[in-house]
Amino acid sequence: MRIQICGAGVAGTYLYFLLSGFDVYIKDVRRKPDCRCAWGVTYSEAKELYRKIGLDLDEYVVSRPECIVANGFRIKNKNVVIFDKKKLLEDLWGQIEFRDIRADLYVDATGHNRALLPEIDKDRLYPTLQTVEEHNAEENIYVYARKTGYAWAFPLGGSKWHVGAGDTTEMRAIELIKMLRQEYGFKEGDRICGCRAKIRLLPPSKCRPFVSGNIVGVGESIGCVSGFGEGNVPALESARILYECLVDNELHKYESRVLENFQWIEEEYKFVEAVQKDKKLTALLELPKVLSIERRSIESPVRDIRCLIKMLKH
Ligand SMILES: Cc1cc2nc3c(=O)[nH]c(=O)nc-3n(C[C@H](O)[C@H](O)[C@H](O)COP(=O)(O)OP(=O)(O)OC[C@H]3O[C@@H](n4cnc5c(N)ncnc54)[C@H](O)[C@@H]3O)c2cc1C
Repeated sequence: MRIQICGAGVAGTYLYFLLSGFDVYIKDVRRKPDCRCAWGVTYSEAKELYRKIGLDLDEYVVSRPECIVANGFRIKNKNVVIFDKKKLLEDLWGQIEFRDIRADLYVDATGHNRALLPEIDKDRLYPTLQTVEEHNAEENIYVYARKTGYAWAFPLGGSKWHVGAGDTTEMRAIELIKMLRQEYGFKEGDRICGCRAKIRLLPPSKCRPFVSGNIVGVGESIGCVSGFGEGNVPALESARILYECLVDNELHKYESRVLENFQWIEEEYKFVEAVQKDKKLTALLELPKVLSIERRSIESPVRDIRCLIKMLKH
């Protein structure tokens, strides 16, 4: 079977290398990778997934933040690192000969664009803004959240930071960045570069179909991104699931396996949606589930609860 992967982001590129024994091709609209992502990743999961293609994540880790500071609350960070995603993709792209062929199976790995699969009914894409800036701040992950979105500052090592936000509109994202600057003292200064992007809010269950004719989706094209904006590991995971289904000749099981695997994204989405719609009771009921999901990344549960409840009031 000839396979054409469309989109060489984190999911498409990873799938390409997993499928190295197959008749597989890949293409992208970009000529080189850019850094449209804050570069946070859950370390142990990404390390294990990348090990499968012979890549050592440690070579790309630029910062291991001690704490996640969210709306002024300090939470001990357990498992989130910042990696140079652009360099990682550049190194992998350096080993690829990009080609566009007539195939038996097409993989939609085009992220929020979802260029091949049928359009999603009532899709929800948030605009995001991000800059690279220089600051001398303690190397933590800083977050300023409100009901509809959040702003972040992620350390990239060497005094460089990703400062960005996502919200319902660009104006609101800009407003959030201002709030983050005020809260943590990240002064508006010389920016090294900046970019705009989008992020899909809907979870996998609302991004069906995953398979349509001879097209199958991976990564953000099928909603593999959490309500809190974590999309790197889910993109890799979905590619791994697709790879296993292809090896076992069980593409018909792909959709159910993705839905089962990403039940945690569904739970986080329910929580975020309840917060956004001001359904406080539903949000509170979902809170324990969200906390147990996030415990893979953070410590000190009592303070987490206080922090999340405070955010609900914004
Ligand atoms: C500002 C921002 C910050 C984020 N920060 C984080 C973070 O810190 N941690 C985290 O885990 N997640 C983060 N995310 C989410 C994460 O980046 C994405 O969920 C993840 O990159 C999705 O991977 P993907 O491979 O599915 O799609 P993408 O990485 O978006 O890759 C899609 C690829 O498809 C290509 N493409 C698009 N259209 C076509 C087409 N028609 N034909 C061919 N190629 C095409 C694109 O050029 C791109 O290379 C962030 C997202 C944004 C927008």
